[in-house]
Amino acid sequence: MSIPKTFSEARTAIAQGATVTQLVERSLVEAERCKDLNAFLDLFPESALAKAADVDAKLLAGTAGPLAGLLVSIKDNLCYKGHKVSAASRILEGFTSLYSATVVERLLAADAVIIGRTNCDEFAMGSSNENSAFGNVKNPVDPAKVPGGSSGGAAASVAAGIVHAALGSDTGGSIRQPASFTGTVGFKPTYGRVSRYGLIAFASSFDQIGPFAHSVEDAAALYSVIAGSDPHDSTTSSKPNEPITLSNPGKLRIGYFREGLERPGMDPEVVAHLQQQIDRLKREGHTVEAVEVPLLDHQVPTYYILATAEASSNLARFDGIHFGHRSKQAQGVEETYRLSRTEGFGPEVKRRILLGTFVLSSGYYDAYYAKAQRVRRILRDRTLEAFDRFDLLLGPTCPSTAFAPGEITDPVAMYLQDIFTVQANLAGTPAISLPTGTHSNGLPFGVQLMASPFDEARLLASAKALFGS
Ligand code: GLN
Repeated sequence: MSIPKTFSEARTAIAQGATVTQLVERSLVEAERCKDLNAFLDLFPESALAKAADVDAKLLAGTAGPLAGLLVSIKDNLCYKGHKVSAASRILEGFTSLYSATVVERLLAADAVIIGRTNCDEFAMGSSNENSAFGNVKNPVDPAKVPGGSSGGAAASVAAGIVHAALGSDTGGSIRQPASFTGTVGFKPTYGRVSRYGLIAFASSFDQIGPFAHSVEDAAALYSVIAGSDPHDSTTSSKPNEPITLSNPGKLRIGYFREGLERPGMDPEVVAHLQQQIDRLKREGHTVEAVEVPLLDHQVPTYYILATAEASSNLARFDGIHFGHRSKQAQGVEETYRLSRTEGFGPEVKRRILLGTFVLSSGYYDAYYAKAQRVRRILRDRTLEAFDRFDLLLGPTCPSTAFAPGEITDPVAMYLQDIFTVQANLAGTPAISLPTGTHSNGLPFGVQLMASPFDEARLLASAKALFGS
């Protein structure tokens, strides 16, 4: 028997007599069968089966939580007490979480079952999963292609049908781009809506945790459980969570990014698809007008200055002393720091630490870091202004479909993968990638919808109504 693809199908199966334990057993078998994808760094059979038995008992007693029957994977940068976590880095090899992330606590409290931890780019830095210290992840749609990154294992675990949903993190597009590459729904909530407590930090003013799923309904179910303020993360908002009803939002004012259609380097089929969607939405009575992406050519550089600056500071804690890898060669404190970090970090992480240290260094701080902060503010203001005129902003998620491993070798070319996704992180807005397109090369691709901060209820309802995912 196969695993029900979605959470609602799982609930139907349970209503018809299946047990959560059976679903978990099948999921573990499926994960083993799909080992070649390299989507999981670890499976958690013991804790998953124990949780499943607990949920089965609660289902019988009528006391089960809202996610009973949901099988979920967590990205390898989320802490789950007593389980290994490594951020796909050698520097944390062998490290076991001492506490659970708030999102993990909330999933378990809602009776979801966590199947395992998923592969990703090292410290979530990348767009293809090629930066993992534990090998590439294959795209389940076409194993000769990357699944995107950095949450590539998360996307693959859902696309392959091993779990119903996954938690990933999105600093510059790491949920939405892999969702686009694997034909899944990927949702980044508003900055501050979901607690980052227990998420291994990359760039703290950008990082957000969010779900992958096969449907907007499932993404919304997961989101509703993880969203909300948290005393452990002072950047979470105290605004109450709006209930997610997914009821039809009626006629909408939608701005579409003209640059998404006109930019050189865009795949013509992605452009044609977006145009078709725009025409259809107009026919359906929505107001759809072109809007300029503010400072498009400045977005990726601004993101990479600020994100690397924050990363260089966040990653200073991995010093070979506190936890993780410690060089065996080193003698003395300074050499312990130097060699442990040299041996523990991969090349992309080192590049970013160097870049970040440079843009923060005295003499260059004003020219790079301070200037990028000002650009970020302008960009944020202009993005928020657009929401005076529009309920939603529509554009491509990515310029193209999934590429092959080794196809993009220039770091800057790889950074340009993020051209349409970083705006939401720079501005802090919620954004979702919906799997609406199939290319003549057989690969899926998505469109992206953005909404104003804390407008998740409308964003998710519109995603379902407009794109039927
Ligand atoms: N691709 C982007 C980067 O490498 C985004 C990563 C992310 O969102 N974690 O920084």
